[in-house]
Amino acid sequence: MKEISCNNQITRLIDGIEPGEFDGNFKDGLGLAEEYSGLEQYKVLDGGVLIALDGVWYHSSEKVRCEHCLHLTKNGKTTYYHSMTAAVMVRPGGEAVLPPAPEMIRNEGAEGNYEKHKQDCERKAAARLLEKHGKYYKPLRATVLGDDVYANHGTCKAVLGQGLSFIFTCKDESHPWIAEQVEWGIPETLKTTVWMGRNHLEYRYKWINGLENRADGEKLPVNYLAFEIYNREKGKITYKNSWIIDKTITQENVSLLTECGRARWKIENENNNVLKNYGYHLEHNFGHGENHASEVYCVLNLLAFLVHGLMILCDEDFIKARGYFGRRDEFYNALRTFFWAFEFQTWEDLLLSVIAHARGG
Ligand SMILES: [Zn+2]
Repeated sequence: MKEISCNNQITRLIDGIEPGEFDGNFKDGLGLAEEYSGLEQYKVLDGGVLIALDGVWYHSSEKVRCEHCLHLTKNGKTTYYHSMTAAVMVRPGGEAVLPPAPEMIRNEGAEGNYEKHKQDCERKAAARLLEKHGKYYKPLRATVLGDDVYANHGTCKAVLGQGLSFIFTCKDESHPWIAEQVEWGIPETLKTTVWMGRNHLEYRYKWINGLENRADGEKLPVNYLAFEIYNREKGKITYKNSWIIDKTITQENVSLLTECGRARWKIENENNNVLKNYGYHLEHNFGHGENHASEVYCVLNLLAFLVHGLMILCDEDFIKARGYFGRRDEFYNALRTFFWAFEFQTWEDLLLSVIAHARGG
């Protein structure tokens, strides 16, 4: 390819492609990571990985819209937007995250009648995602992480139906049936204290096994875990959260389960935030099209993010080149400068030139 097509031409070309067409690329990417032992460091809970799910907006406009846009009307103003249920492999204490295929949250068959159309939502998209990709998560012995939106009976059941586990944030106010059982139950507790240089932090764990999550008369056994950090010197609680979990909670695993549950925020910090604010421009309008272009630009962006994650895990030249730069953006700026200035036959040639330059040669 000698010339890069203009933006309008690319939008026109990709508008007819279903975003699901790229699912195989995500699967291949994770397969590659597994092949090169890149996933070993992610196998943190009973030999399995953690996959966090989260709803992510990536486009909103009052004018631009397509057949698959969602809409929100507030104070007489309608906003058209796109979002997805994103999936990200995370681990406690680690920065690098890997995204498996997302599932678009989108309307179908609105045919211009946008306002009256029944809308798709994050939970329905999550159910489709588990149905499509659960079989690939299963050999990785995945535990699915999610916020309070996912702690309902249907999503828990869908996760278990795929042979997977879950740790979902569960707030008392949105799940009163579970909160009531917690109130009447007799919890087990554990308290540990750590010295953080200036403060004593008390890690307070409280859990009850054998509760029920229910809907429409159907009951599902779940276990409940509450955790808080009390700062003795400040005399106050500085962190508090609670989860429902399918795995039995014990004195031995309660601290690890808590760490894994807390790793959920990494999908917001290391994935959504990086994609939106650190060079991927996820929310930029690359072109909207009439059908799938907006979704496909988003998926291509995620694929780029996945490839960078894979290179950091598995590509020796990339790791070496990255090592010469302190900040992530400085490294990518160097790659961009070399890419524009010289012609390279292979990706390896580009990286070796960056390495040679960084060495001062
Ligand atoms: Zn749209």
